[in-house]
Amino acid sequence: MAITKKTKDKSIITDKSFQFLKNYINNPSPVGFESSGQKIWLEYIKPFVDNIFTDPYGTAVGVINSSEKFKVVIEAHADEISWFVNYITNEGLIYLKRNGGVDHQIAPSQRVIIHGKKGAVKAVFGWPAIHTRLGNAEKEQQPKVDNLFLDCGARSKKEIEALGVHVGAVVTYQDGFDELANDYYIGRAFDNRIGGFMIAEVARLLKENKKKLPFGLYVVNAVQEEIGLRGAEMIARRIKPDVAIITDVTHDTQTPMINKMIEGDVTCGKGPSPCYGPAVHNKLLKLVEDVAAKKKIPLQMRTVSRSTGTDTDSFAYANDGCPSVLISIPLRYMHTTVEMLHKKDIEQTIQLMYETLLTLTPKTNLSYL
Ligand SMILES: [Zn+2]
Repeated sequence: MAITKKTKDKSIITDKSFQFLKNYINNPSPVGFESSGQKIWLEYIKPFVDNIFTDPYGTAVGVINSSEKFKVVIEAHADEISWFVNYITNEGLIYLKRNGGVDHQIAPSQRVIIHGKKGAVKAVFGWPAIHTRLGNAEKEQQPKVDNLFLDCGARSKKEIEALGVHVGAVVTYQDGFDELANDYYIGRAFDNRIGGFMIAEVARLLKENKKKLPFGLYVVNAVQEEIGLRGAEMIARRIKPDVAIITDVTHDTQTPMINKMIEGDVTCGKGPSPCYGPAVHNKLLKLVEDVAAKKKIPLQMRTVSRSTGTDTDSFAYANDGCPSVLISIPLRYMHTTVEMLHKKDIEQTIQLMYETLLTLTPKTNLSYL
């Protein structure tokens, strides 16, 4: 509540949308099992769009002006990195496989939820006590997928099975949304549910400000990004958009042990971060840059090489080629349970996507030659 009070007059984010953001972040949405998050998202976006649909693997879409031939997508991804139960020992411990790029280094002593057949089961990543490791170099192991295990209180395989936990059950971390000083938010899986929030807010602003677009707008919350941009690939083929604006997170590079010479110079709180790269359409990017300049939205440009590593690739190279642009939001500590971002970047990224949509028309010249 304090947040909306402080910046009541200027903030794009309302009490209601802030509440949605918190619920949406706190709800687990593991790769391949995103449906509960998609339901929350669809429920929120429904009043702002003309119709909604989902595809066979759970990508959710809100559509405005579905009868228009020219189609524009704004897109984020709905899935969250997680683990799979892979092996259950006779002593009642659980070994895991990655489901997306979960970071093994942060796992020891985390609390998790195993999504079993009988519902949620709490567990922890156990780790040998420091006393049993100190002074014994051989025992000073680093956490790795093959030595990490979960303890849910069961002391036999039978007890685990009785809880409804099975091979293939997904596991997510428990940590949720919180606020830090100076308008910083932390949470699990801001990558990329903050994107789902931002595209929903764009739809809300279009509706509330009674804006009419000269094209069909598809607000897409895609599944399965974290294991290879798969949901976007499927939905791009289905919608066959003419233009796609993708949003995802990118690295704030101001914290220790990150090399700016390699990762570039990006700071939380200093604005959205689009990028140059072969998959990013130059003319569309120029349009975004012009909109930002006109609306006084600061940008932090980056470059990517062969691929953007985001759903942008899936849209750009889908079908016969779809002019695509990536507008990322800076984030600290990606793929940890304390992903951190700045409120101002959220607002400015929403605003940049919104204003870009208001500038774009089916006649916008995107020809390279
Ligand atoms: Zn990710």
